[in-house]
Amino acid sequence: MSVLTELYTEITHCNLCEIAGSRTRTVPGEGAENAELMFIGEAPGWHEDQQGRPFVGSAGKFLDDLLDMVNLDRTKVYITNVIKCRPPNNRDPLPVEIRNCSKWLDHQIEIIHPRIIVTLGRYSMAKFFPGKTISRIHGKTQMWNGITCFAMYHPAAALHQQSLRSTIEEDMRRLPALLAQTQTVTETRPQPKQLNMFEV
Ligand code: URA
Repeated sequence: MSVLTELYTEITHCNLCEIAGSRTRTVPGEGAENAELMFIGEAPGWHEDQQGRPFVGSAGKFLDDLLDMVNLDRTKVYITNVIKCRPPNNRDPLPVEIRNCSKWLDHQIEIIHPRIIVTLGRYSMAKFFPGKTISRIHGKTQMWNGITCFAMYHPAAALHQQSLRSTIEEDMRRLPALLAQTQTVTETRPQPKQLNMFEV
């Protein structure tokens, strides 16, 4: 069993929040354990709660289109949310739920160790870009614990507000270059000097 699968089992048994009582399934996340790109949304909706998979409803279909647009394979990236249970009536996640769930998200980041974290919407932006406003920082990057974070609007926002569609598409189109850039930076970073026994 992989470390990620073990984590999913732990998440399935989590009862820290009241909303654990109303969920159909937990939605831990899915994708490649060695993904270079990690997308973090807000919280599962109705479809996600039914299937136990992130971004499978209408916002998910739009996310799939965005990934296709830049030739990214959904199975090669990692997709998850700030919280792993559906809030009743799709209300916003509560601070206590975000706090309780942060240990799962932190553990996922530690296991996957992506090159780039893409925040989808305000709630995931708040963790990686504290104190910032989405309208100001979407399409921009900031480092967080050595990982490049890239802020985007939530795909659902574009479904409700057509004017945001081209903004999200434009931000998404920046991802391949950003990925190539972070690869170059990692590859050209000086490697720690190997000491032999006489140098110690
Ligand atoms: N919105 C999210 O933030 N996450 C999902 O998984 C689905 C919709």
